[in-house]
Amino acid sequence: SEEKSLNFIEEIIENDLKSGKYDQIVTRFPPEPNGYLHIGHAKSICLNFGLAEHYNGRTNLRFDDTNPEKEETEYVESIKADIKWLGFDWDQELYTSDYFEQLYQFALTLIKKGLAYVDDSTSEQIAAGKGTPTTPGVASSYRSRSIEENLQLFEQMRAGKFKDGEKVLRAKIDLAAPNMLLRDPLLYRIKHATHHRTGDQWCIYPMYDFAHGQSDSIEHITHSICTLEFVPHRPVYDWLIEKLEIFPSHQYEFARLNMTYTVMSKRKLLQLVSDKIVEGWDDPRMPTISGMRRRGYTPKSIREFSRQIGVAKRENLIDLSLLEFFVREDLNKTATRRMVVFDPVKLVITNFAEDQVEYLEGEDNPEAEQKTYRKIPFTKELYIEREDFMVDPPKKFFRLAPGKMVRLKYGYIIRCDQFKQDENGNITEIACTYFPESKSGSGDTTLKAKGTLHWVSATKNTPVTLKLYDRLFTVEDMNSAEGEYKDHLNPQSLVINNAALAEPAILEDAPGLSYQFLRKGYFIQDKEKEADGKPVFNRTVGLKDSWAK
Ligand code: ATP
Ligand code: MG
Ligand code: MG
Repeated sequence: SEEKSLNFIEEIIENDLKSGKYDQIVTRFPPEPNGYLHIGHAKSICLNFGLAEHYNGRTNLRFDDTNPEKEETEYVESIKADIKWLGFDWDQELYTSDYFEQLYQFALTLIKKGLAYVDDSTSEQIAAGKGTPTTPGVASSYRSRSIEENLQLFEQMRAGKFKDGEKVLRAKIDLAAPNMLLRDPLLYRIKHATHHRTGDQWCIYPMYDFAHGQSDSIEHITHSICTLEFVPHRPVYDWLIEKLEIFPSHQYEFARLNMTYTVMSKRKLLQLVSDKIVEGWDDPRMPTISGMRRRGYTPKSIREFSRQIGVAKRENLIDLSLLEFFVREDLNKTATRRMVVFDPVKLVITNFAEDQVEYLEGEDNPEAEQKTYRKIPFTKELYIEREDFMVDPPKKFFRLAPGKMVRLKYGYIIRCDQFKQDENGNITEIACTYFPESKSGSGDTTLKAKGTLHWVSATKNTPVTLKLYDRLFTVEDMNSAEGEYKDHLNPQSLVINNAALAEPAILEDAPGLSYQFLRKGYFIQDKEKEADGKPVFNRTVGLKDSWAK
């Protein structure tokens, strides 16, 4: 909206468009296909695609696939699915590996200009030769190789004449530069590995610093947005573009998203998966987009969250509760209401006929513009929530107790007349009278009840499994947690309820619906069922923020 003040990237873009520097902006989202996307990537996606949308530009999806050993096609597919699910569409689907030949030609250009050389030093020697932040580096004898020798050796590197690590190609910049990254950074390394797209075509692979900026330039990216750790890389980015005399893309940096009670690095997430601490990349406790989808988070809530947190120039930690707030806000408007009793206790309506079934009408969603209804069977024997009955309640207990009245949602007011207990004092049965004239929607207001309870029929219900999720870790800021990050796992991050009973409508609902189980929370059906066919529901989020204790 026009009212909201511009963030620093929007300001840059507006100036660039106003000054005529660009007619149209082009951004890119450049994931490395070495894992599943997480909420931090979602932030970057919303930013890059959102800016292009807002300023009538376009966004490329570029797989940054220069690391043959860690990358897989499975990840490419999941990344595409996640971006689409978030509600964005890329202009072009591109791969850095498609530029390998062009990048090789760029390297030749640098060599011919005397700006790159083949170095035979070991990685230890190269590191030592770089010096320290306070002392300049020392040139290796290879730095003064002739252009002809460099061209010949680089061609031999490509042709597979050398083993891994035997040689590298380095830019010849400045071994005394205060910025260590300018001390002759590596451009190419030898790696005899099969690439998921180019197979065995190449045995030399470009380093990030050489591949990224040049790929941006090939695609005429105007605003290359990345996270703050790349600030020191920017001089290398600019140096290469200048020396190669190619399209001047520009890099801009913002603070990466960090969130409470979770980790957000693909390496750590991969470890959780391979150590079987979670069920997989899409385990609903994972901060991955696929995990959040399986848990029932909505694309809209993630986009709104992303907009709300904005772009920062300093590292910060965002409260997971803020994301949950946006999830609740969206689901309150869209979720289908159903009744599920989590911890059932039997309730008998003494004045209701034994074999009678009355089908009550229940509104699917009071927030919806288009009203729809489902049928809920009401029978003599019902189940209510064990915690909704007390023999000797405190003053403001607006639920059921001996002699008290409550309304059964979508149905009637009932009064508790009697109850049965076992030898341990557990309630085994509650006996009630119902008042036919008090039916919901009848307009009769003779009787009043303060509380309304959810319930299911004892004979016409369907058992369900509930998976109740919570924070994966117990420490707020996992970036500064002591010891191993796996020492801080929340043992209660998954609690399974096998006793719950749902109203039968749930079996007929379309798959993928978001639910509000009345008075209990937001849920979504899991993709997997129990072995016996029993449906499983994942808790997306509670009705209220119960964590803020
Ligand atoms: P990780 O460190 O979690 O493995 P990455 O940065 O290596 O992530 P890439 O696939 O290289 O993952 O990232 C693709 C894009 O997403 C990059 O532009 C990167 O800056 C951005 N990105 C990654 N993590 C975050 C984050 N936490 N917040 C914002 N943007 C992020
Ligand atoms: Mg990476
Ligand atoms: Mg990283």
